[in-house]
Amino acid sequence: MSFLAIIDIDNVVIDTDRHKADIFLKISKIVNQEISEIKRRYEEFRTKNGFINMSLFINTLSAGNEEIANNIKESLKALNFQNYLRPGSLKLITSLQKQGEVIFYSEGAPADQLRKLDETGILDLLKNKHVITFEDQNQNIRDYIEGGEKLPGIIIDPNKDSNISLFIDQIRKDYDQIMYIDDKGSIVERLAEKECLTFPIFIDYGKYSTFKPNNKKVRTFKTPLKLSKRLPIFFDPEIKNRQKRK
Ligand SMILES: [Mg+2]
Repeated sequence: MSFLAIIDIDNVVIDTDRHKADIFLKISKIVNQEISEIKRRYEEFRTKNGFINMSLFINTLSAGNEEIANNIKESLKALNFQNYLRPGSLKLITSLQKQGEVIFYSEGAPADQLRKLDETGILDLLKNKHVITFEDQNQNIRDYIEGGEKLPGIIIDPNKDSNISLFIDQIRKDYDQIMYIDDKGSIVERLAEKECLTFPIFIDYGKYSTFKPNNKKVRTFKTPLKLSKRLPIFFDPEIKNRQKRK
């Protein structure tokens, strides 16, 4: 039996919302602007660029003032992602590795995403540390897949939303079971509808937590810890039956 788990990063294993709130607070002190104004500019930057590249965003905020830019950069460096690891994340990864392979698939700026995995110790846990990134929106996973290269352990893809199902279609023949874990419930549900997943998992946390999945196969958990506690039943449904009989 071969198993693959595909895990998202932000608001799944990293508390990105709390990290962001701390960033906004620090920046607002440095540039002497309201937190709401920093937030507004952040969202504006995201809409314009598709995702956040922190160092480009800092350049925008500091408007060419190098001292301010450096102050922001230094204070953000001091926020170690170790403090933003969501409960049970490391346990979830090691438990899933007992079943098979674990990879990460995420949007975002490659440098930022890799720093999150590195500072939290997740990178150390991964058996497959091969990273592929598509920093240029014109590069895409289709070319990569068609190139027939081996499965990477970490994929950072700005077009994840549209590429993820293509990716899973390509690799599903190699696995008996695929688990997909994401806080963006709409992606989880879309993949569940296509019936290409054994375990579609919605992490109900952060800005997408208002999402209510309609598909019965989608299972919802608040934290990686809660999911990891449930894993024995996923992989051995007999456990549940035995408990019922008791
Ligand atoms: Mg996410």
